[in-house]
Amino acid sequence: MGELVDVKIDAILIVDDSSSSAEALSGMLAGQGYTVWVVADGAQALREIELHAPDLIVFDIGQPDADGFAICQSLKATPRNAEIPIVYVSAANDTASKVAAFELGCVDYLTKPYAFDEMLVRIQFHLKQKHVYDLLGFRAGHDALTGLPNRNLLIDRLQQAVKHAERYERRVAVAYIDLDKFKFINDSLGHEVGDQVLVEVARRLPLCVRDSDTVARLGGDEFVVVLYDQANEDITVNAMQRILHSIAEPIVVNGSEIRTTCSIGFSFFPQDGLDVETLLKNADAAMYRAKELGRNNFQFFTDELTAHINERVALEQSLRGALERGEFVLHYQPKVDLRSGKVVGLEALLRWNHPTLGMVAPLRFIPLAEEIGLMQQIGLWAMRAACRQQKEWQQGKVADLPIAVNISSLQFLQNDFTDLVTTVLQETGVSPQSLELEISETLSMQDPHSTIRVLTALRNLGVRLVVDDFGTGYTNLSFLKQFPLDTIKLHQSFVRDIERNPEDLAISDAVISMAHSLHLRVTAEGVESGSQLALLADRGCDEMQGNYFSAAVSDEQCAELLLEQRSLPMDRLGRKHTVRTLLLVDDEAKVLSAIERSLNAQACRILRARSAVDAFDLLATNEVGVIVCDQRMPKMTGIEFLSRIRRMYPRTVRIILSGHADVGVVADAINLGAVYKFLNKPWEQAELCKIIEEAFAKYENDRLMEIASIG
Ligand code: C2E
Ligand code: MG
Ligand code: MG
Repeated sequence: MGELVDVKIDAILIVDDSSSSAEALSGMLAGQGYTVWVVADGAQALREIELHAPDLIVFDIGQPDADGFAICQSLKATPRNAEIPIVYVSAANDTASKVAAFELGCVDYLTKPYAFDEMLVRIQFHLKQKHVYDLLGFRAGHDALTGLPNRNLLIDRLQQAVKHAERYERRVAVAYIDLDKFKFINDSLGHEVGDQVLVEVARRLPLCVRDSDTVARLGGDEFVVVLYDQANEDITVNAMQRILHSIAEPIVVNGSEIRTTCSIGFSFFPQDGLDVETLLKNADAAMYRAKELGRNNFQFFTDELTAHINERVALEQSLRGALERGEFVLHYQPKVDLRSGKVVGLEALLRWNHPTLGMVAPLRFIPLAEEIGLMQQIGLWAMRAACRQQKEWQQGKVADLPIAVNISSLQFLQNDFTDLVTTVLQETGVSPQSLELEISETLSMQDPHSTIRVLTALRNLGVRLVVDDFGTGYTNLSFLKQFPLDTIKLHQSFVRDIERNPEDLAISDAVISMAHSLHLRVTAEGVESGSQLALLADRGCDEMQGNYFSAAVSDEQCAELLLEQRSLPMDRLGRKHTVRTLLLVDDEAKVLSAIERSLNAQACRILRARSAVDAFDLLATNEVGVIVCDQRMPKMTGIEFLSRIRRMYPRTVRIILSGHADVGVVADAINLGAVYKFLNKPWEQAELCKIIEEAFAKYENDRLMEIASIG
């Protein structure tokens, strides 16, 4: 806002062909504290004006001659100079001369001889006037709260940028920045705090880009940055990353820390639009995409986005009335205990029964509802509906199991959230132990201190507390320890490939052991197959939720399932343990049969797999002692497969079947510990039997050692 506060000495240019009168006037004005220049003719005047940009011009060239008029005209022709007030001085006292001067744009006309006092007063008046205009001009182009350029000035600058870029074949990036959940800050902490946050954001944004770039505020919590001369996308991406980081830094208002993040969408000239309007519109569309993708990120504009945006607008409109029209329903998904196989809880999942679109999934409308400030109401509705359902099922002797409700961040961080929960429980007559609240890991770590406070209050109330989607956020374990929780839900992204992917299994193992050390239960989300189930149960996971048992179903279907007392069969709750299990893996059925024949006399259970995928499933559901695997298989080599198995089931003894051509790789694999022994094709029956016998002996021995070391 430098322009507003600078103290500046006004500069006056005197154009006078008579040096004596010029000297007298300039002496008087200098005595008043003005900076004064004197020139004798029009040509010098123009040069001087370009050089020093005076605040006012006193124009006195004998007669209002052609020269004087020409100069005034050329001054008024350039926008920068047009605003400089000109005081015309002339001996001519006729109306026509005065009118001519005023028509040229002069602000005043003094006839000679004039009194210095009068000249001074008039000059002071016009300078004051000019300051006011300057200020208004600044205001017209700037936002009053933050001092940043406003929409008008932005459009102006963007137009110039586009013109320039067109001519010199340059690229311009337009980034649309919107603060995440600013409405929440404003509503819960008050507008004054909201304003402070905006002022701070306005201070930070320009520090993330070059001085020559434009940072503007469009209004509300929307900002636009125009980045000129973007040689490649990396430069833009770096700038956006700086912005994300800078905005995510805590903002201190009245001594307390406020955290916000922003979502950014951008478009490029020329590929995403050739005019200002399109560029802004498309950057805005990309910004919405960033919001939908979970906020605190940036997105490029692409063509599909346009269609997406139209759909979104329509969705937003119908969402506004959905609660009143009673279009929301809850579906319920059972949580099953992995020791007993019994249903031990339910999760209420929100569905929007849209008149034309049918059932809309929560991920399609919850971010939107949060954005337009509806999520608190909708969330409250869901909690109330779940509690009513709870009461109904308890009274109807359908079941008496805790029902979990998901809580969005906007709900959780609202001031009176604990009171709301208390009210809902009282209203519906449900005891706190029958209600479970799920908050996402990301949310819980956004502001861990507040989270501890709210969770403690809720815990004192007696409701059960769950951290949802664990593994997706950046949990600080020292905070997690302080959260009064009952359960952690392992995010389904780790469950999806748990039987094939060593990393996913390792993470699941780590989450389970960490949770158990904090005396928390672990629920695996999104369990879809028997192998995932068996493996999770084997690794000590406490509960599962997923389509393998039941997807989220309507209240009637859920009641049916509960009344039937449907449960998971015990024999699926873990890997099958029998004596000596051998797994044979080969894509050729012939080879599998041949090995089996060679092993005829061997006393063991034999499992056969034609592909790595099948083998992973068998391993997840069966305790396998020894694996014999072919090196040459489509999709995944034997060594790659066995390397994974080594990390997932380290005790399994792994043997590879290879041809002579594979000698090098096989040797490496043995050295790396992925493979215990190798067998050359074609194998000798006696040798095969001997190796397998040894392998089982090793397996059993290792197992005994392990038990001994644990004991
Ligand atoms: P969430 O709380 O993690 O819920 C689990 C999601 O996984 C549900 O998706 C559920 O239908 C889905 N799911 C369950 N089993 C399987 C499976 O075997 N495979 C796969 N692929 N998915 C499975 P849904 O119902 O679409 O809900 C998505 C998210 O929306 C929820 O994730 C939750 O974060 C949010 N949500 C749902 N209802 C509410 C609500 O009432 N309030 C709030 N704030 N958020 C809600
Ligand atoms: Mg949940
Ligand atoms: Mg979840």
